[in-house]
Amino acid sequence: MCGIVGYIGDKNSVPILISGLKRLEYRGYDSAGISVLDSDRCSIIKSKGKVSILEKKVIEHKLNGTVGIGHTRWATHGEPNEINAHPHSNEDGTLTLIHNGIIENYSTLKKTLQKRGVTFKSETDSEVIVHLIDSFLKKGHNFFQSVRYALNSLEGTYGVAVIYSKEPDKIIVARKGSPLVIGIGDEENFIASDVNAIVAYTSQVVYLEDDEIAEIYRDRFNARTIKDIEAVKEVVELEMAADEVDKGGFEHFMLKEIMEQPESVFNAMRGRLLFEDGISKLGGLKGFEQKIADSERIIISACGTSWHAALVGEYMLEQFCEVPVEVDYASEFRYRNPIIKKTDTLIFISQSGETADTLAAMREAKRKGALVLGVCNVVGSSIARESQAGVYIHAGPEIGVASTKAFTAQLIVLALITLMVGRHKSLSLVDGQNIIREIQSLPEKIKKILSLNSEIEKIAEKFKDAKNFLYLGRGYNFPVALEGALKLKEISYIHAEGYPAAEMKHGPIALIDENMPAVFIAPKDSVYDKVISNIEEVRARKGRIIAIASENDNKIDSLVEYSIKIPDTIRMLMPILSVIPLQMLAYHIAVKRGLNVDQPRNLAKSVTVE
Ligand code: GLU
Repeated sequence: MCGIVGYIGDKNSVPILISGLKRLEYRGYDSAGISVLDSDRCSIIKSKGKVSILEKKVIEHKLNGTVGIGHTRWATHGEPNEINAHPHSNEDGTLTLIHNGIIENYSTLKKTLQKRGVTFKSETDSEVIVHLIDSFLKKGHNFFQSVRYALNSLEGTYGVAVIYSKEPDKIIVARKGSPLVIGIGDEENFIASDVNAIVAYTSQVVYLEDDEIAEIYRDRFNARTIKDIEAVKEVVELEMAADEVDKGGFEHFMLKEIMEQPESVFNAMRGRLLFEDGISKLGGLKGFEQKIADSERIIISACGTSWHAALVGEYMLEQFCEVPVEVDYASEFRYRNPIIKKTDTLIFISQSGETADTLAAMREAKRKGALVLGVCNVVGSSIARESQAGVYIHAGPEIGVASTKAFTAQLIVLALITLMVGRHKSLSLVDGQNIIREIQSLPEKIKKILSLNSEIEKIAEKFKDAKNFLYLGRGYNFPVALEGALKLKEISYIHAEGYPAAEMKHGPIALIDENMPAVFIAPKDSVYDKVISNIEEVRARKGRIIAIASENDNKIDSLVEYSIKIPDTIRMLMPILSVIPLQMLAYHIAVKRGLNVDQPRNLAKSVTVE
């Protein structure tokens, strides 16, 4: 969601903050701001829009300081404008604060503070925190205790960083429900909501846990709990290289990430397949294999694209593991009374591992005593740390807001879990080996699909002005239809809907006319003939059809306006191939419409608020 970055050391913090904010911009970017410590107050510069606008302002004002904090905002309370942008300050400008999250009791706190004569400048929930800290400072408490007391009065979620000109040797940070990491340097330290922001400066990091607060000095840090008990922290070595978060010559991160899929899919399976035994080996599930295989039910919970991966996972596990599987939106999960038994296994999928809804659902399931597994990309993220066991998807940093390579890597991991559970049950060695062979053949097949890029770009040109789109698929390709529609909506702002192809006749068929494009995912599988009938139904109503079809399918060309031919694989793995042309189609349509595909409006990469 929003991004937080901070620096304390001997260098000018401003370029470090700006470069960190640029790396975080993908998380949320309606406005941005930074604050640095000056002699007796904190200077603040903010702007609406992109970090590059802020950068210009900062240069004009010759902002300089060796201690500073910066923020990219994704508005929850108050419209995205300069006043509401963070940092927020107390009335005399000695204290500034940045915040990620939502303060649920802000209006009560605001009224109390206003009654005491405090003037608020913004409409944000965040501003109450800075005035609350100020009120404790005015009572004579030191900086650290004032922050701690203020945080104890808050309900909701926060990652915060605060600086105070009367105690200029430190930045205070704290977290509850929003990520925060400390980067350890040599006579300098960093803070960030995401390691991407600081990986160029250090590979030594400390992850702050919920309800912890830390004082960061140039040369050391102290961490305590909000209840003021010492917190023992471990320094972790990051494996990520700084250049992994660059565009690598591509015009957009999204295209780079689409093109990286042969490697990311390979990385998701690397070292995890044991051909001799026809099984997968997942280190993060070690010791839990039998428990998972014995579970009476598996529930997979996620949001957005990860929820689509979960649906594919449902098909895989039910096909090979004789276990009932349910898929649940994480955002709905804890607001029902989900019936969770100790014999259930729950799998939570989140690229960032910080998705607030998924994290909250996971905590609820844990409380109910079920086995809780995480499937995440970001190493050391909250879901990875709080789940009892789990599997990293190893897709590498995903910066484009519209998820691509994380989705296909999630599907690989779900296939590996299926293989593991299946082999603990009745899946035969030969069938296990067949699945492994097919999984291993995917990177080469993906390369073939990626070589269709210019062909897909031409199709995009023909459809770039469409107002609506339908995506239709059956069986394993129904979730792919949902994902294809989501990709298009997210980055091209064209209204699109995904449907099971056979459901079309129960409603959406009314929308078909000569202006309605329908994308059919129609590989030659067991439901192929049925999908062909659905294609005929759209044809009869003059709809414009694009088909994702098998490379040996010549029959389909006479039925559709465009076909994109992809290699075959077994049914369970087909979504890993069939989604790729849909990612490319959405990408090219958005580029042709002149839109910012990496940072689509209103969206954030890592949704760390509910
Ligand atoms: N709730 C805060 C605001 O609207 C912070 C939002 C964010 O996490 O970016 O300003």
